[in-house]
Amino acid sequence: MARTTEKYCFTCDSYEEHRKLDEEEQAKLRRRLGRSSVNEFLVCVAPDCFNLRTGWNKRPFPEPIRLSELNEPE
Ligand SMILES: [Zn+2]
Repeated sequence: MARTTEKYCFTCDSYEEHRKLDEEEQAKLRRRLGRSSVNEFLVCVAPDCFNLRTGWNKRPFPEPIRLSELNEPE
């Protein structure tokens, strides 16, 4: 099981456990954002949330991006 850290989740509006993205998830997010590195991103592990944030920014996007949405091809 991936190690988690408790951080504020903007979507849950509460402190929730977050984990780092695995290789496959990072690849999807790189494609979604058009960035070469997404190492700083964490995902909320609360049930059905999957909201993305970075280690220092609780709201890195104008509209929340959920990890679960990245499964859909653009
Ligand atoms: Zn959340």
